[in-house]
Amino acid sequence: MHSNHPKVWSFRKQLNAIIFIALFFIMACGTFGGWRLLQFSSSQVTIQQSSQALHQNLYTNFDKTRLIGEIHTQLRLYMQSGKADNLDLIHKYSEDLRRKLSTEEQKTLGHFLETIDTLEIRMKSLEENTKKIAQTEKALIDLTGQLINISSREEGATIRPLVVGSCLQHHQLYVTAIVANQIDALTRIQIDAANIFTDLDAKLTALGKTLNAEQQMFIERLKTANYELDETVHTITSIRITTLETQHRIEQFLETLNAGVTEDSLTKNTEASALMDTSLQLARSNLLFMSASLIASAFMFAIIAFFLNQRMIKPLIGFVELLRRMTQLLAGLRGQQVAEDENLIQLSEMAISRHDELGEAAQAVKMLITRLRELSLFRQTIEADESTEEIYARLAQIFEYKLGLERFVILEQSDENSAAMAPVYCNPPELAPELPEFAIAEHCRAKRTGLMITSLETPFICKQYPFSETMDHICIPMLVGGHVIGVVQFLFSLDLPEEVQHIKNKAVEEARYYIAEALPILQAKHLAQKLKDMATKDPLTGLYNRRYLDSVIEQFIEGTIRRKSKIGVLMCDIDHFKRVNDLFGHETGDFVLIQLAQICLSCARKSDLVIRFGGEEFLLLLPDCDESCAATLAERIRATIESHKVQTPSRTLQQTISIGVAEFSHATSKTIWEIIKLADIALYQAKENGRNQVLICQDDSVNKTLENIP
Ligand code: GH3
Ligand code: MG
Ligand code: MG
Repeated sequence: MHSNHPKVWSFRKQLNAIIFIALFFIMACGTFGGWRLLQFSSSQVTIQQSSQALHQNLYTNFDKTRLIGEIHTQLRLYMQSGKADNLDLIHKYSEDLRRKLSTEEQKTLGHFLETIDTLEIRMKSLEENTKKIAQTEKALIDLTGQLINISSREEGATIRPLVVGSCLQHHQLYVTAIVANQIDALTRIQIDAANIFTDLDAKLTALGKTLNAEQQMFIERLKTANYELDETVHTITSIRITTLETQHRIEQFLETLNAGVTEDSLTKNTEASALMDTSLQLARSNLLFMSASLIASAFMFAIIAFFLNQRMIKPLIGFVELLRRMTQLLAGLRGQQVAEDENLIQLSEMAISRHDELGEAAQAVKMLITRLRELSLFRQTIEADESTEEIYARLAQIFEYKLGLERFVILEQSDENSAAMAPVYCNPPELAPELPEFAIAEHCRAKRTGLMITSLETPFICKQYPFSETMDHICIPMLVGGHVIGVVQFLFSLDLPEEVQHIKNKAVEEARYYIAEALPILQAKHLAQKLKDMATKDPLTGLYNRRYLDSVIEQFIEGTIRRKSKIGVLMCDIDHFKRVNDLFGHETGDFVLIQLAQICLSCARKSDLVIRFGGEEFLLLLPDCDESCAATLAERIRATIESHKVQTPSRTLQQTISIGVAEFSHATSKTIWEIIKLADIALYQAKENGRNQVLICQDDSVNKTLENIP
């Protein structure tokens, strides 16, 4: 039977829910944490990168700016002093800078570097020119000396006012300008110097003077010296101009470069530090989230562990303990004890409040124990029952009232040697007339196979089953020691709804336990019956023997006296039976005996005692039956035998019987044995009268006869 508890929270559902929640939570935490971890590690990388970039930026920019600054300083120093050392340093620094610049930067700073390169070359030539300037200065001084010398002499008197003064003046200005590094002044002086010799011939003609050869040579030398001087000064000037320009350009470039580098590095630094800030912030929040997730996970784990422990592990341990106790109890119990054991009674009455699998299992165990107790009680009850009929009646009660199986038939094989199987119990009784009797028990499928036979699974499975059109059947063989002693057949309407049929099937399952429980007792009862029969029954006819009569007669009489009732007594004797033996042999005689005994038995009521009194004599004691009632039965027996054709293996015979009738009354003073004797006398008279008749014992005639009987 099934538990009726509503399953509020099934064990599996609880477990599934916990696992689901835990998985969901852990997955959520894991995903979130993982995502955060990823972010954290990427932000770490970013921090590293940005700090590296920052560092790099600071370092390289600082280095580059330093180099450019150095170049600038050296350039300025060189401009002031013109020392070659400064030039070497400029070269070195520019080389360093070139190495440090990226391809991108080299593109931007290409012009600057080129300028420095040109500057170097120019500076080199400037050096040479400086030497030249010194030579020029020297030449200038020589020339000035010569000029003074010439001009102080007579021949100089002519040209002195014309060129010498101007030349001297120019020389003076040149020296001053060179020393003072005045480029503009040098250029101006140059232009004036060129004019010194332009109008010389015209001036001489105007003066009416001609120059002698020495004077002319002097003038030529003066011209050449002046020209060379001009050339040198020109070179100096151009170099100085270029240098100044370069310096200027460098200064300008340096300014823009400085500004650019500073701006660039500033932007980069700001970017990097901003990135570092965000990364740090992210990392901090990630760390926070991660620790929160970790704490939440731990908390969740603790809750799950607590829940598992409370809801499952503890009850499970308790349940296992309960099962262990039950097993111990059950192992120590046998038969009667099961029904009466206090612990089991307690266990079977235990209230179960859990509505999950544990509750279900506990319910199943409880039901098992209840069933065990019920079966044990049932067994105890039927053990005390007197006959198999009582046991069948008790089984029937359980089928009908406990299990709700209203229609069923119990068929039994009368005894091991008999081939027949007949219904011994039928519910409802109206079914009985329609039931088949198996003259050959093996025709019953369940009996033959020892298996449960059901038309629910295989319709029309059994050919012998008479209600195929209206009812389904489940036949359960009563199997004891490999031998089927009978069959229990349950019947169901064909149109039962599926749920109802399911319930009925369950009930049949339950019924099988009761049948199984009853089987050994039924067999024991059968065996006891057999033993009893062997002692109390005549083996040939199956009728009770005289020993049986002796054992029950007192009880029989007592009951009749108590009820103030009567007993009809019939003494029957087969007519001319000796002849049958003589003519056809003892075996045929036995056949006749068996069949006529059966006729006597079938004519009598269930409560009547039919006894094989002698060789071919049957005594019938009919409780609650007076003389006339007894006579009627006697006549029926006589008439039935007269009309019965006795079938023997070799032939058909017809026999008659003579019956003497007497009556035992509670009021009589005679003993039953005396009344039997009277019936015997009546029988004797019937024989005397020509046999095949019933004769009622007449008191007077009997008395007479009694006297005549020796
Ligand atoms: P009556 O009509 O006078 O009773 O004649 P009867 O032959 O029946 O009477 P009788 O008493 O002379 O014979 C009884 C016979 O019954 C004798 C015996 O051989 C036979 N008999 C007794 N018991 C058995 C038995 O168990 N089997 C067989 N076959 N015969 C039996
Ligand atoms: Mg006889
Ligand atoms: Mg006889």
